[in-house]
This record gives sequence, C-alpha cells and structure tokens, in this order.
Amino acid sequence: MRMSRPDTHGSTRSRGRADTYDPVLTAKVTVPDLPGWAVARPRIDKLIADGTRGPLTLVAGPPGAGKTMAIAAWAAASCNPAALAWLTVDGRDNRPRVFWSYVVAALRRAGVAVPRVRFGPGRVAVDHAFLANLASALAAHDPPVVLVLDDTTPLGPILARIAAFFRDESCGQCVPCRVGTVRQEELVSRLVRRRPLGSVDAERHLLDELGQAMRDASICGLGQTASSAVVSGLALTRALEGS
Ligand code: SF4
Repeated sequence: MRMSRPDTHGSTRSRGRADTYDPVLTAKVTVPDLPGWAVARPRIDKLIADGTRGPLTLVAGPPGAGKTMAIAAWAAASCNPAALAWLTVDGRDNRPRVFWSYVVAALRRAGVAVPRVRFGPGRVAVDHAFLANLASALAAHDPPVVLVLDDTTPLGPILARIAAFFRDESCGQCVPCRVGTVRQEELVSRLVRRRPLGSVDAERHLLDELGQAMRDASICGLGQTASSAVVSGLALTRALEGS
C-alpha cells in the first residue's frame, strides 16, 4: 500500500526519532494514503469523530469492509484539534517491548514527547516508571492525542492483556488500585472466556463499580485510569453483540 509522505496533516509529519528513515517503521506509523477513487462518507467520518471524544473507539467489521480506509479518510478530512498517531500492528508485534517501541515511535511522530521504553529484565519489559511517564505525557498534551491501532485482532484478548498490564503495574501502595486491578483482570478474563460468575450483566455491573472505586480512591493516575479502556472496550463489545 502506498503511504503518505509528509504533508499538511500532523500525523504524517516526520518528527523526532522517526526522522531517521526506517522503511518498516515509517510504513507502520504513517497514515495510509487514500486512493483517488475513495468516496467521501461524511456520516462515517462523523461517527468516528464522535467516538474519538471517548477513551476508546472500536471500528469493527469483516475483512474488506473498509475499516482502515474509513479511519484514514476521517484522519485526512478531520478538522478536529487532536494530535493523531497511527500504528499498523500485526502478529509479529505481539510482544510488549516490540509493541511499546512502535507505540512510542507513532506518538513521537505525532509530536508527543513520550519517554523511551526501558527494557528491564524479566517478563515485564515496560516498567511502572515508563507507564507513569507515558500517562503523564499523554494527559498533559494539548491538543489531546488520538492513537489509531490498525489491526485485525479480536478485542477480548486485548482487553484481557490491558487488564493484566495494569494489574502488573500497580505498585500496591493503595488498596483500591492494588485489589481493584487484580479483581478487574480476573473479571475480564472470565468474560473473555465466556465463563461469568452469575450473569454477564452482573459481571459488567461489578466491573463498573470496581472502576468507580478505583477512579475515586486511587492515589495516582495509574489507578484512576486503570479501568477506563477496559470498561469502554467491553461496552463496545456489548454494542457489537447487540446485547
Ligand atoms: S494508584 Fe498509583 S500509588 Fe496507588 S497502587 Fe496504583 S500505582 Fe500505586
């Protein structure tokens, strides 16, 4: 696929480390060009724009439905003030240090000053300091940042990994985050495996309450935001399933 080169759109400008030309990296963090025959779809543009005002937006559909083109069209036509970072991911990126390195490259290309990934020993390649610095950089960035992950992965396992990530990164200093992230990960795993305790609605209700408790009573931004993507993602899966 032909990729866009630096132009007037913020996400396609070469900045920071992405200035060192690496064709693979550049292809992964560049918004795809629209073909000349692309048809304007303002209603879909508006749906995507509305969605990006929330913490997580899912554009889902079968192969060939035009998901990537819809997002690229929205990005090209968008006059919203958000900084747009794009990352095309595939199965080979399914390792924390690889994935987060690409995320950092995409964000830097979008002009966001994010910390480097520090590769520590053991299975956790991205440590708590990195996550806290990344969260701070994103929270402080003006305009707000939209990160597009263009992928073909089912959402459920991603949410389970997000939940596991926050569980692992909680430093344990305060109870709402220490216990809440563990319970959240257990709950999400049950839902993803379709083995809820009681009903799915009861599990979702419990997840909402957990998230509220973590938001209200956690000491730092990690605990206060640990439930946002999970709750939002599960709401989207419910909408897709029509339940
Ligand atoms: S909210 Fe912050 S301080 Fe509290 S346990 Fe979580 S990471 Fe630690």
